Amino acid sequence: MWVIRGRVFFRGQLEPLSLGIDESGRIAAIKKVLRGDAETDHGDALILPGCVDLHVHMRDPGLTHKEDISCGTRSAAIGGVTTIADMPNTVPAVTTTTALNQKTDKLRGRAAVDYVLYAAPQSATAVPRLSDAVAFKVYMAESTGNLEVTVPRMEEIFRAAEKEGKLVAVHAEDPGKFMKQKARDPQGHAAARPKIAEQTAVATLMRIRGEARVHVAHVTCVEALDQVAATATCEVTPHHLFLDWSKPLGARGKTNPPLRSPADRDALWDAFRKGRIDAVASDHAPHTLDEKGEPFEEAPAGLPGVATAFPLLMRRIRTGDLDLPRLVSAMASRPAEILGIAKGTIEVGRDADLVVVDPRNIEAVTTKRVRYKCGWTPFEGMEACFPQAVYLRGEPIVEDGEAVAEGQGRLITPRRTGHHDA
Ligand SMILES: [Zn+2]
Repeated sequence: MWVIRGRVFFRGQLEPLSLGIDESGRIAAIKKVLRGDAETDHGDALILPGCVDLHVHMRDPGLTHKEDISCGTRSAAIGGVTTIADMPNTVPAVTTTTALNQKTDKLRGRAAVDYVLYAAPQSATAVPRLSDAVAFKVYMAESTGNLEVTVPRMEEIFRAAEKEGKLVAVHAEDPGKFMKQKARDPQGHAAARPKIAEQTAVATLMRIRGEARVHVAHVTCVEALDQVAATATCEVTPHHLFLDWSKPLGARGKTNPPLRSPADRDALWDAFRKGRIDAVASDHAPHTLDEKGEPFEEAPAGLPGVATAFPLLMRRIRTGDLDLPRLVSAMASRPAEILGIAKGTIEVGRDADLVVVDPRNIEAVTTKRVRYKCGWTPFEGMEACFPQAVYLRGEPIVEDGEAVAEGQGRLITPRRTGHHDA
């Protein structure tokens, strides 16, 4: 047995503890004092469960000039993420079994962290065929890729997903509420895809969801959040929490749904820290600087963020703007629960996916630090607190803040025996 020591986040609080890790990479014991064949002492650094980012676009296969699974998951690891859930708008889009199998084959052995795949059924008949995906994604409005479905079609997909007990994550914007005006900057983009489009879409979604497990992706404003029923779940992105249209980002700040006003952002942050939002998901959606250099109207929507989500939030622990249980819930335990995977908590029997972080370790976000293939981050210069070490199933994947390993990430497939572990 191998022993890792530190101030462990266990059962909702920090305690100086030893974690015993067995050969399969699982936590075998949690005790005040444990003896092992090898021991790593992290002193008074915090040991938190590895983050689960339930919304990323690793662009692999098909769009690997923007990002790829090896590079993207190394960046994830640098940011304390040990499991990602990858969206289906890769090329070919994951709308068929063939595309799903092809993607599974392509990614095998290349990821630095564990991963879950989404599929995008375009009809009810596609739903049972795509049951090897852990979850589904449905687009109500056009974004990157042309996967949007109509409301009646979505309703049929929900009825089929309900039978499978499958999670359906939804990009909720009502294209009927978009304004036909040209946008020249993020503020114009927000006006063209207004909050009412999101609010209406979420309301529609709640009306038609039935018993389906519905998850609202990237809520950007309190008006939309107010529409999310207590029995549905939702996520917020770090860019909607930390950026708004007043930042001079040009097309790099173009994303869907758009960055909102500074006042909207404040209200969203307040709702988040009060526990009204289940999860923080990066919606890591990289494009190259060349692509983002096109005129605003033509530039693609989306921005990278998988490496900075946890570090930006961790920084807010030190300033007292956020408490640690809220952060751990939003970035680890709750997203794992939403996906229905056995990750996101430190307990006996769980994979030893761990983040070691010292809250006093403050640094500015730089392009070099996050190591994105696309070569930029919209959070450049912002204060953050990156992990010093990260473990995946007990193996170090980050040491001294740098990614040290790759390829040991595994595909997580749906459990056939039910939705939840005992
Ligand atoms: Zn997305």
